[in-house]
Amino acid sequence: MRTNTTPSRRKMLMLAAAAVTTGIIPILGHTDDDSHEDYDSDGKYASGNNTTFALANTGLTANIVVIGGGMAGVSVAKYLRLWGGAGIKVTLVEPSLTYTSNIMSNLVLNNTRTMSSLAYGYTSVATKYGVVIKQAAVQSINTTAKSVALSDGSTLAYDRLIVAPGVDFMDAYGLTQSDYENKTPHAWRAGPQTELLRTQLANMSNNGTFVMTIPKAPYRCPPGPYERACLVADFLKNYKGSASKVIILDENASIQAEVDNFTYAFNSIHRGVIDYRPGVTNIQINPDTKVVTYTDQLLVSQSINAQVVNPIPPHRAAGSAPGSWLANAGLNNSSSNGVPDGRWCVVDVLSYESTAVAGVHVIGDASSCGLPKAGHVANQEAKICADAIIRIAGGQAPDSGPVANSACYSPITASTASWLTAVYQYDASTRRMAIASNGGVTSGARATEAASITNGNFRQMNTWFNTLMGDTFS
Ligand SMILES: Cc1cc2nc3c(=O)[nH]c(=O)nc-3n(C[C@H](O)[C@H](O)[C@H](O)COP(=O)(O)OP(=O)(O)OC[C@H]3O[C@@H](n4cnc5c(N)ncnc54)[C@H](O)[C@@H]3O)c2cc1C
Repeated sequence: MRTNTTPSRRKMLMLAAAAVTTGIIPILGHTDDDSHEDYDSDGKYASGNNTTFALANTGLTANIVVIGGGMAGVSVAKYLRLWGGAGIKVTLVEPSLTYTSNIMSNLVLNNTRTMSSLAYGYTSVATKYGVVIKQAAVQSINTTAKSVALSDGSTLAYDRLIVAPGVDFMDAYGLTQSDYENKTPHAWRAGPQTELLRTQLANMSNNGTFVMTIPKAPYRCPPGPYERACLVADFLKNYKGSASKVIILDENASIQAEVDNFTYAFNSIHRGVIDYRPGVTNIQINPDTKVVTYTDQLLVSQSINAQVVNPIPPHRAAGSAPGSWLANAGLNNSSSNGVPDGRWCVVDVLSYESTAVAGVHVIGDASSCGLPKAGHVANQEAKICADAIIRIAGGQAPDSGPVANSACYSPITASTASWLTAVYQYDASTRRMAIASNGGVTSGARATEAASITNGNFRQMNTWFNTLMGDTFS
């Protein structure tokens, strides 16, 4: 018998977004209405150092450049200033004027949320904390000269560099970047592709077939694809006929997160609509005819005529393709089964300093550290990294036992949700983060998932989301 979420667990999830390893309480609230009127001709936020927040005079000094204004980059920029004080100069380099949250973006597909409700600006981090915003893309890193070259032709010098650029999507299944943008959107970075996929769903005829693919782990947001399948199934059966189909082609051998709740959702809540097919290989997609072919678990070739195809391709640290800026700096030193694959940046999880390049830290989805690739986690990694850099600036060693929390809500229908949470701790034997239970790292420990899928979880999800985004952008 499935039971309700306990009050203590609920409280833990609410507080999770605010959890920090150093015990400093973050400021809550969020903004999504920035006017961006205050950028000067260099793309710098004009009121950059006029903080409305009283920063401490710690006596510490450092010149930090952060690449990427997403969940990890904005969090680290804000907390470096908040904890490090006025002498820690922080410049955040980001090409976009606003950030669109991936979190909650699956709810755009069934019209529960709008894209504009997911937009966050940089005014708060600039005006409250004095982070200098530079609107540009990083094009190269000179790790010897300690400088970055930007798309506007300027260069920025740094004492320490923090790299938080998120992910790039690889050409896969016979598709190109142009196919993702125009015909078969992955929508795994919220933006125009999310709108395209929403329109394609809205235009599906009755009782049609939607096919989505899931790449081998590690990928961004482990429960996210299964969440999307549930929301699409909910939308199709309510608006496009109960004989509609959502076929999930998973390159993994099994569901990667919230196994109990997604299994229940597939077999009960969305029974007859969701058809989950794990362990598939050789996926090929024709972006024009929408014919999908693959080899199933029994090594039999299969073919599906789909109406809409949503491939989530394998991804890698942004800029890590051969010849690109992050790869040229030598930061993408990960391996898969002992073979270098150049997809992720391995870090020392006590400080998030790259194991390949001294003085450069990598946080968020681009890093490889034992933590899942998630926005909540990116915010946590940012705080551990900020704390370590401040300690280093003060002549100390980083904290030797960092702890991080991961929490995630997953909508299952337009009004119900599940959740997942875990505490991660430094594992000295592997020098990575691992799930902790009973006060220490425990081999085989799993994240805890909600005891049931409820309306209450859905309401709490919005509180969790607003808290996390407020802690990051406000
Ligand atoms: C559909 C979906 C649902 C999700 N749901 C959840 C959820 O419920 N909970 C959760 O915790 N996570 C969720 N995630 C995952 C979460 O969104 C990511 O893990 C998180 O955004 C990673 O943060 P990041 O800072 O590493 O990357 P991002 O947030 O992607 O930010 C990277 C930033 O770097 C910038 N950048 C890139 N290249 C450069 C360059 N050369 N120069 C300067 N800037 C650059 C980009 O413009 C971008 O703003 C979800 C993801 C998806 C796709």
